[in-house]
Amino acid sequence: MIQILENISLKPFNSFGIHALAKSFCSVSSIIEMQELLEWNKIQNNPLLILGGGSNLLFTKDYNGLVLQNALKGIELIREDHENYYVKAMAGENWHQFVCYCVQMQYQGIENMSLIPGNVGASPMQNIGAYGVEIKDVFESLEAIQISDGAVVTFNNTACEFGYRESIFKRLLRNQFIILSVVFKLRKTPVYNTSYGNIEQELINMKEQQPSIRSIAEAVIRIRQRKLPDPSKIGNAGSFFKNPIIPTGLYEELKKENKNIPGYAVNNGDYTKVPAAWLIEQTGWKGFRIGDAGCYPLQPLVLVNYGNATGAEIFNLSTQIIEKVQAHFGIQLEREVNIY
Ligand SMILES: Cc1cc2nc3c(=O)[nH]c(=O)nc-3n(C[C@H](O)[C@H](O)[C@H](O)COP(=O)(O)OP(=O)(O)OC[C@H]3O[C@@H](n4cnc5c(N)ncnc54)[C@H](O)[C@@H]3O)c2cc1C
Repeated sequence: MIQILENISLKPFNSFGIHALAKSFCSVSSIIEMQELLEWNKIQNNPLLILGGGSNLLFTKDYNGLVLQNALKGIELIREDHENYYVKAMAGENWHQFVCYCVQMQYQGIENMSLIPGNVGASPMQNIGAYGVEIKDVFESLEAIQISDGAVVTFNNTACEFGYRESIFKRLLRNQFIILSVVFKLRKTPVYNTSYGNIEQELINMKEQQPSIRSIAEAVIRIRQRKLPDPSKIGNAGSFFKNPIIPTGLYEELKKENKNIPGYAVNNGDYTKVPAAWLIEQTGWKGFRIGDAGCYPLQPLVLVNYGNATGAEIFNLSTQIIEKVQAHFGIQLEREVNIY
């Protein structure tokens, strides 16, 4: 039996800790319940928001529709071959707990993505990534329910059209599917990736002679805990902006006036990825605070709610940052966080 609640505060359901009211709210833990709820919502003709862990969204106003919390649970090894384990996780599983499970089972491939908040269901939607690994590298397939008719559809890696923090579910098929479960292809013989960030140095600090699935996960956790604000203490949604990718010609031009501008070649060198954190810091925002909205002093890519900021205040701060970076460098920052 589905239970639909009215006028619920979304504060406990978003990592920014923003108070906003949902007109209707329902947590569903089975596909049957989800189909039933979608039928109900069709009759109501309400807008629909799918909620996972709420760690990559910002509510700038009340939500005048139905918030559907996807709480489908379960993890299962569905098959294996010579090289891989194929592990299915339901959308409502907590991402980090799923990573811990795979580390424990010696399923290799997602340990670099330890401690990313949120749930499994949003991971392909966002093509989450950290320390040189993205979902698309370990993704086999997903099942999703089509909101218009309740049909369950399977998507393979190509069909998801993954890009940098992007997938078809954020673009062409936006608001059309609810991701139910994801199958990950994880390795039996490890191929470690320790070249990114400070993983190698952290392993040395930890006195680990050889990298292992467990030690890499631990190194990543230690680095992240030092660098990023814990949402249970300071509200935030991780990186607020994407790192802009600009034509390399433009990057070379900028480098003439800004000798230290960092850049990483992408697409065979035709384009260059510039760290948004550097651009934000150079334009004076690092550590900036207005009321309870701020730019985190240790990582300017992260906008924070020090307590009672509204979503609109955080959104306004992000607009000011975008405008100043645009005026100074001619680069348009794009928000990574989903705005509602
Ligand atoms: C401290 C911190 C650090 C972070 N670090 C990283 C990082 O290193 N790398 C990274 O990539 N991200 C990072 N993030 C961002 C965030 O953790 C990820 O984007 C995560 O995947 C969001 O998952 P969620 O379940 O919380 O999604 P939500 O915030 O609940 O939803 C995000 C979007 O996905 C949609 N959605 C959610 N579930 C489904 C579903 N089942 N079907 C269809 N649509 C769905 C929602 O409608 C919304 O538009 C960080 C966030 C925080 C707070």
